Amino acid sequence: SPLELHTLRNRKIYIKRDDLLDEDFSGNKARKFYYFLVNDFSFIKRVVSYGSNQSNAMYSLSVLAKLKGWEFIYFCEHIPEFLKENPSGNYKYALQNGMKIYESKAREKDANALKNEVTLVVQEGGRQKESSFGIEILAKELKEDIKKAGIENPYIFLPSGTGTTSLFLQKFLNIKVFTCSTVGGDDYLREQWSMIEKNKSCFPTILTSSKKYHYGKLYLELYKLWNEIKRDMGVEFDLMYDAVGWKKFLLHVDFLNGTPIYIHQGGLKGNESMLKRYERKYGIIG
Ligand SMILES: *Cc1c(COP(=O)(O)O)cnc(C)c1O
Repeated sequence: SPLELHTLRNRKIYIKRDDLLDEDFSGNKARKFYYFLVNDFSFIKRVVSYGSNQSNAMYSLSVLAKLKGWEFIYFCEHIPEFLKENPSGNYKYALQNGMKIYESKAREKDANALKNEVTLVVQEGGRQKESSFGIEILAKELKEDIKKAGIENPYIFLPSGTGTTSLFLQKFLNIKVFTCSTVGGDDYLREQWSMIEKNKSCFPTILTSSKKYHYGKLYLELYKLWNEIKRDMGVEFDLMYDAVGWKKFLLHVDFLNGTPIYIHQGGLKGNESMLKRYERKYGIIG
């Protein structure tokens, strides 16, 4: 994917455009699931996963399943009646790709129970070691991009959900990776990392904020920031992770040494449903 030089608030920022990898299979979920795309899984007939009803991973898995000719089964805790009647965003497009979705209070257990010789189970958000395969490729690209553009003293920033992408990036890169939590708090993020990696010395550096932003909650402040970035940079970012990511990054950027590279991790299909929610809550239109 291209590395682009942009300006925001008079500051030079490089953006790694992983949102442009492919029209349907893009962002960090494409990197995480690349392992399943290019390796031989001809014995597999279905893929099973679980998570939220508007997950970016869910949509990307529906694309993967369609490309591979696999059945795609997905468990989520609950689907609101409103969404069932008015499908939008990742939910709508995953259904169009043939996803079979079930509501279950024990979604993780139900998904893992289906694992067998012909059924692949993918953990929530792609939090698993197979993800390192595609993220290592991203790290290699970044090294080449940095060399080609002659970037001095570069550092990376990207917001974390499970933290899988930021952790593997830091493992594969010898430049500093900064991130922030968006799903739970900072301790939760460190716990997630500990589940995949024992060695704490290769954990990315967390940028904190005194204000808590709850996952998936709407904040007019974040919408305005997202809109400013879209207008001034001409790049649309994800409203779920990047709105919080940019907020926390900008709180710290004056104190960080070097040239920032922000990783655009895709997720734009999900903006459709987020924008509808903002519209309903605040009466604003994207
Ligand atoms: C899934 C996702 C993330 C979080 O990635 P993790 O590897 O779980 O930390 C961040 N941004 C976007 C756009 C995503 O889709």
